[in-house]
Amino acid sequence: MEHINANLLNKIAKINISLRKAYGSQFVTPVTPDIPFGGNVENSIGPWPEYILHGFNCLRSEKGFCTPCGYSNVPPVLKDKNVIYEYLLKQVDFIFHNVNKTILENQFLKAYPSDLNKVAITLTGSFFSDYEISTEYRRKVVEKIVEGAEVNGIKLQLFIETHAEDVINSYNNGELSIISDSLRKLNTVVLMGFESVNEVSRELLYFKNLNIEAFENAVNIIKKLGLRPGAFIFAGLHSMTQNEIVMDVRQSIEYLKHNNVLPVLMISNFKEFTVDHLLFSYGRHFVVEPRTVLKLMDILYDQYGENALDIPWMIADPVGGPPAPEAHSFKNMRGSCSQCAEVILSNIRMLRETYDWSTYFENVNKLNACYCTESYNLLLENEKYFENNSLIDRVVSNIEFVEKNKDNYIYSMKNVFDA
Ligand code: SF4
Ligand SMILES: [Zn+2]
Repeated sequence: MEHINANLLNKIAKINISLRKAYGSQFVTPVTPDIPFGGNVENSIGPWPEYILHGFNCLRSEKGFCTPCGYSNVPPVLKDKNVIYEYLLKQVDFIFHNVNKTILENQFLKAYPSDLNKVAITLTGSFFSDYEISTEYRRKVVEKIVEGAEVNGIKLQLFIETHAEDVINSYNNGELSIISDSLRKLNTVVLMGFESVNEVSRELLYFKNLNIEAFENAVNIIKKLGLRPGAFIFAGLHSMTQNEIVMDVRQSIEYLKHNNVLPVLMISNFKEFTVDHLLFSYGRHFVVEPRTVLKLMDILYDQYGENALDIPWMIADPVGGPPAPEAHSFKNMRGSCSQCAEVILSNIRMLRETYDWSTYFENVNKLNACYCTESYNLLLENEKYFENNSLIDRVVSNIEFVEKNKDNYIYSMKNVFDA
């Protein structure tokens, strides 16, 4: 990150922290949740349920990293570790005491037949973070999942989400090797935030605070333990044009394919009290256009084709939360008409269940005849003007703008001032 200005990164961290504090200050009483977030496939990484155990916040969110992430903006919990850890176990119990409703009735994957019921059960930020859960309780969570599957006589494929550095720590202190038996039993896929292979995108625009060597080490550890590694790719960072978004995603997907890491594409949507939503509110940041999403899907097709033996890639529902987004690609578009947007969204949802590319292409190719192809092309033409300034210059100007307008934004959002 040497060539990325440290002062600029400090500024971004401060802004992110103050927006997140303003969000959190709306909640007066901390909660002790006994049911997890999620469950609806429209809030999930795939056509199966995803549960986020509601516990302590993500440490990286509190430190101001991960600019677009509103995902860790959740109501604060009681600051008592012993109480909250027990409540995490209760949330796992809730899932397995209601397994028909929570898992079995929510299996919508129609391709790659298998007797495994897929489910994501993870923590707010990072599954292997010692800040969110102790080693002892993490082991209890995993054991409870194994036991829940056995008691109900079902086989599971578990998806967990974590930060690469926490994988490395957990491996180095021996914990990961101890629980890896259980994780293998659960056919676990370990998904890590990666966001982009490009350093400026990952470290400045997303502000992930993750170097590529650490990511690759974590991938190797996961493979060595006999688990499948996956990584999130984020499409739609602020300050980028639609063309730049496509290039960024292409390079990232090529890189993951080369390293045999399962990509999970996330199309950005804007959550309140984030820099991305602030810029969007003032007309300085836009959603990934539905027709750009088509180009991203083309990249997946080019890279993986139709003959994979197991799920080759995943895409999170582009409209999903939690929390529910304020703006997304299929509501706030500029260069596509609403009919085309609707067709694109429903076909992406169909494709992530069936991986049936022929039906997908048959449906979306019809959209070439719509007048909005012209508006989209015009938009791309107009955006070329922005590319006269370097991406870093655009970021500097956007961050200056955010600094100037942050207090007004907070006021207008919820009438809450950051102390
Ligand atoms: S590590 Fe994940 S949950 Fe935490 S702030 Fe970053 S993106 Fe959000
Ligand atoms: Zn149209």
